[in-house]
Amino acid sequence: MRKHVNSTIKPRRLLVGALIALAILTGFAGASVNYDPQATFRTIFNNERLRLTAAYCLTHYGIESAELREPQMIVVHYTAFATRDESLGFFAPTRLDTVSRRDIKGGGVVNVSAHYLLDRDGTILQLAPDDVVCRHTIGFNRTAIGIENVGRNAADLTEAQAQATADLVSRLVARHPSIAYLIGHHEYRKTGLPHYRLFREDDRSYRFTAKVDPGPAFMARVRELLRERHGIVLKD
Ligand SMILES: [Zn+2]
Repeated sequence: MRKHVNSTIKPRRLLVGALIALAILTGFAGASVNYDPQATFRTIFNNERLRLTAAYCLTHYGIESAELREPQMIVVHYTAFATRDESLGFFAPTRLDTVSRRDIKGGGVVNVSAHYLLDRDGTILQLAPDDVVCRHTIGFNRTAIGIENVGRNAADLTEAQAQATADLVSRLVARHPSIAYLIGHHEYRKTGLPHYRLFREDDRSYRFTAKVDPGPAFMARVRELLRERHGIVLKD
């Protein structure tokens, strides 16, 4: 009888052991706070890109580091490309294409990028850990996580992308409680909005470029989903 009881305890011990192991693993997962569990991680960053990003940060933000510590805002974009592969092809090169991006080439040689790329069906690629600076929004890169949606224009964006963006924002806020602001790229120049207090640009010759992505309708939908599904309201 006792033997029988003991033999039933052993599996329980195994279960307790497994739960402890899971807790430890989850603890380690806390260290990977910079990776989204719903995304496929496929980084476009190599050592050269990190070095060029640090140089960009020194020129524009006065800190020679590619590290994004305690992000304070999220900026939503669309890529202006119809497919994920075209969008990836644009972000993947380490150096900026100075022919097509003559408008911003004075800002530095590192190519533009974002942390997340959302396909039209809402599937997510993560192109950089959350704690690496990506070049996507003049004046805010040192503190802003970038989310790019695949699409040629505002009308191209899908409901699946709005939902995936809202869900991703909710997970980012959970992982990084320092995030207080959410804007669309088209809103970044609005000096009267709360996020503008984070603006920093040391290179006075580096001017704002006009942006229309992702557009008011998409941001309104993302904010509505965030509020209704997640109970999250971020400042703009
Ligand atoms: Zn943009």
